[in-house]
Amino acid sequence: MQLFSKTIINWYKHNKRELPWRDVNNPYLIWISEIILQQTRVNQGMSYYLRFVARFPSVNKLAQSEQDEVLKYWQGLGYYSRARNLHKAAQQIMGEFNGVFPTEYSDVLKLAGVGVYTAAAICSFAYNQPYSVVDGNVYRVLSRFFGIATPIDSGVGVKEFARLAENVLDVLQPGLHNQALMEFGALQCVPVSPQCSLCPLISNCRAYELNLISSLPVKKQKVKVKERFFNYLFVEFEDKIFLKKRNEPDIWQNLYEFPLIEADQLLTVSELMGNEKFAALFSGIENVDIVGVSSPVKHVLTHRVIYTEFITIRISNKNKPLESYIQVPVAEIDKYAVSRLIEQFLEKL
Ligand code: SF4
Repeated sequence: MQLFSKTIINWYKHNKRELPWRDVNNPYLIWISEIILQQTRVNQGMSYYLRFVARFPSVNKLAQSEQDEVLKYWQGLGYYSRARNLHKAAQQIMGEFNGVFPTEYSDVLKLAGVGVYTAAAICSFAYNQPYSVVDGNVYRVLSRFFGIATPIDSGVGVKEFARLAENVLDVLQPGLHNQALMEFGALQCVPVSPQCSLCPLISNCRAYELNLISSLPVKKQKVKVKERFFNYLFVEFEDKIFLKKRNEPDIWQNLYEFPLIEADQLLTVSELMGNEKFAALFSGIENVDIVGVSSPVKHVLTHRVIYTEFITIRISNKNKPLESYIQVPVAEIDKYAVSRLIEQFLEKL
């Protein structure tokens, strides 16, 4: 066990990437970087991280900001509940912890959106407390090196790997150990075709010995993917278009979007004209001209595929249903936080 940690830490000292959140012990910065990196690769996450901490350099600044602005800085990263939770947790720290980032693991765990993984990362990286971190990279290294085929997404597997991660943890330098193990999984013991011949663990690696590298780690669940069909209406009136905040507890909550007709398929223009919601939205408007329909877009999220078309419509006057939307000059749309799907449509205008 000791040799395992020692070897990985030694490898890390020679191979780690220089990253802006490395070698810092500010829990706020570690927290932000960990939440961003849970959903994106380091290269993509870097610019988001730098922009985010430049605008919100402290818990206090984040807590005082409007949620809309926080979401705007998160736009394109996806998993918007994480941004909402960051904002909420910052306010929690101001309200419940006198503005000081908590130092006890149990208190860190109370913050909105912080689970055992993030709490262990913050407490070990920032305070050098002996909590082991288990992320996807760690699962892969441990399952391969120790030759463990228990599914990592089963209750038994989660416990078994958590115990193992604790057993291999170097309690004298837990922060360094955890970062080394995660980096080792990210760069050396990669998911596909790791270069085992260059690996310092090769002589004791069970997966290498038993030729099990491509079958470890094991996952049991196939993620069920739900299909949804969004017919977005890009409605132009004079120099303005219409937006609404998604208030429902659903994907993209609190982001802005165009008038939406969700159906069980993408609608043709004639189906759209016969759609009740469409008719209600434009009732009493003299001229409703459909001036363009985009090609269908397939937008893939973790558990959903959203099929979308953007229908551009020009209207001659407004009515009551449209009054419930925000009217935004086209030039100012980018002040509003929108999904990546809508952002991509706007980029083509
Ligand atoms: S020998 Fe290969 S499979 Fe084993 S730990 Fe090293 S890189 Fe991973």
